[in-house]
Amino acid sequence: MLIIGRTTAITVVDKVAPESEVDTVLVKVASRCNINCTYCYVYHMGDDNWSRMSKFMDSGTIAAMCGSFSQLVSQQEKPFSVVLHGGEPFLLGKRRLFELLEALREVLPERYPISIQTNGILISDEILDICLQFHASVAVSIDGPEHIHDRFRVGHSGEGTFAKVLRGIKTLSKHRGASFLNAGLLAVIDPSSDPLEIYHFFKSLAAPSVDFLCKDGNHDRLPLGKQSLFSVEYGDWMVRLMDQYLSDPEPLPIRVLDDMMKVLLGGAVSKEGIGLTDFGILIIDTDGTVMKNDTLKSSYNGADRFEEPVNVKEGSLIPFIHSEGFLEYKKMQRPVHARCRSCPKLDLCGGGMILHRWSEKSGFDNPSVYCSDQIYLIEAMQNRINKLIERYV
Ligand code: SF4
Repeated sequence: MLIIGRTTAITVVDKVAPESEVDTVLVKVASRCNINCTYCYVYHMGDDNWSRMSKFMDSGTIAAMCGSFSQLVSQQEKPFSVVLHGGEPFLLGKRRLFELLEALREVLPERYPISIQTNGILISDEILDICLQFHASVAVSIDGPEHIHDRFRVGHSGEGTFAKVLRGIKTLSKHRGASFLNAGLLAVIDPSSDPLEIYHFFKSLAAPSVDFLCKDGNHDRLPLGKQSLFSVEYGDWMVRLMDQYLSDPEPLPIRVLDDMMKVLLGGAVSKEGIGLTDFGILIIDTDGTVMKNDTLKSSYNGADRFEEPVNVKEGSLIPFIHSEGFLEYKKMQRPVHARCRSCPKLDLCGGGMILHRWSEKSGFDNPSVYCSDQIYLIEAMQNRINKLIERYV
């Protein structure tokens, strides 16, 4: 098969090489959001790419993207997942959502997961019926009970969004397809909050699982609530959460803790940011441009753009994922700083998320801004596991 791409003059590819494999494609189907979270990396971290985008991905871009996915399905052995993202993806409305999911499912068999990351406000039975019809699951972002959630997740006039989000979550959990549709919750940590309160609140929502993210930040701009590079506010918060989780006879699955414990016990992780598994993550922007992981936006304006940008409307993704630019980007997941490379925690920490390593002075050649927190959590986890082993061996 002969494919002509911009990043490589002529590339002949019959099968995607293992080092070029794509694990996740995050599709920015809507460039705007119906709320205005104050910590959002898309709108409040200095990158302004969103303002030049049309509000929604148009039908020509969707068709071109689906053509690329179809080729990837036939040439890559490993299935990849597609995450619909924004802005807020449900701003698409029912008709556009139906057309998008229909087009995606025409090229993606059901074993290729499609999920939608939403702030939950626009969830309705009709929207969920469409998601169910095309086998697309729904994960909702919520940070905790009202007084915690509404500190940061606010509307465009600064009003809290908790009540509307909760209504969306309840609609999701009561839907006839909830056992498939409900893909769990995603929360951003506020280290000044009480992790036990948050844990019990999420359990009360009967969520199937929850994932926690640290706030964005880097060496030049410390994450909110972190006093210094050596303080462990986030590590301490996670340890308190872990202790609650471990003492619960019916624990709520917590993805980040489960992944870390799996690595400690010799297993593999399911997502980037932990351990040494390289993930192939592509972002397709609303206009079809292929971008790097969009969390990089928080480092500097344009940090998520490839040097030689491609657009799905210009041709196949296959030559692009074999290009030097893509392979270099994939390699960025491995930390290069000497302290990380000789660190006894590297296997588990993996140097953290790329965006957390940034400084104006040394680029991404730094340990994570969360290095002290990671060490604190990893040591606590190792300690708990050792105690368990001592008890039973
Ligand atoms: S960020 Fe810190 S804990 Fe993680 S690998 Fe680097 S030095 Fe080790």
